[in-house]
Amino acid sequence: MTMEQLQAAIEGLGLTALGARVENLLERASKQEPSYAEFLLEALSAEAEARRQRYLKTRLQLAHFPFVKTFEGFDFAFQPSIDERQIRELRTLRFVQEASNVILLGPPGVGKTHLAIALAEASIRAGQAAYFMTAHDLVEDLGRAYREGRLDRRMKVYLAPKVLIIDEMGYLPLDDLGATIFFQLVSARYERGSIILTSNKSYADWGSIFGDAIIATAILDRLLHHSMTINIRGESYRLKDRRRAGLVGAREQEGEGGMVSFSTAPAFAPPKTRRLKASQGSAPAGAAEKQV
Ligand code: ADP
Ligand code: MG
Repeated sequence: MTMEQLQAAIEGLGLTALGARVENLLERASKQEPSYAEFLLEALSAEAEARRQRYLKTRLQLAHFPFVKTFEGFDFAFQPSIDERQIRELRTLRFVQEASNVILLGPPGVGKTHLAIALAEASIRAGQAAYFMTAHDLVEDLGRAYREGRLDRRMKVYLAPKVLIIDEMGYLPLDDLGATIFFQLVSARYERGSIILTSNKSYADWGSIFGDAIIATAILDRLLHHSMTINIRGESYRLKDRRRAGLVGAREQEGEGGMVSFSTAPAFAPPKTRRLKASQGSAPAGAAEKQV
């Protein structure tokens, strides 16, 4: 068999990664004399790895992340309020299998979005689709769909991925329609798919996000039933270098969002008056909200 025929056969099957490597593989095989099975495995692995990379790239693009961040790039030493046991548990991705939620709370710049994306990125690597949206864009998008009579169809975009990031909940309050849509989304994903939510508001302030304590409670009930809350109380990572350079006063807070003063706000904690049902069935001990 000639090299041309081999290349034509490989190209005909669309095995581009193998095509690029086949000469190399043959040359090495003639020297090292692997078994037939070993040779075949090596040839197929080249193609399989290339496909995996393409698949990951596509999934990452579909996820609509504003930037790709990973755990490797996160400096946990800078944020000692983060419980590393919680992070270890989350990194097993059990929460994705169990469709439980992750809530990241804290002031601006402490790494909430970074960690949310790192978790979603890890899920994609593990073969589960993820999708990123800010709370504002999500509610606006679904609100438009509602007005145009296609809410159910549009909702599917946010129900399909196993992991949905809802970023920056609470920077802007929601109107009645927004709150109702948000409730519908959280209810529809409940026990079916994970939500990773970030917010600069403590649970006690959620009434003011939704303008209605009853709907806020109903949403929190479903969101927190199977969930883990990560409270980050440290200072903004964005200010770190500027502060080191003496450009920012020690007590100055970053203005992003500008809705909460963290120097006076109580530590983040779920409202004490709310009682959550004990975790049942599929809820893992580690993923259950422990602070309520
Ligand atoms: P938040 O969502 O809490 O406002 P971000 O996750 O957007 O904060 O973080 C702000 C920037 O600082 C991002 O570029 C993020 O990657 C970076 N960052 C925040 N915390 C850390 C950290 N502990 N280690 C490394 N980078 C961090
Ligand atoms: Mg953020």
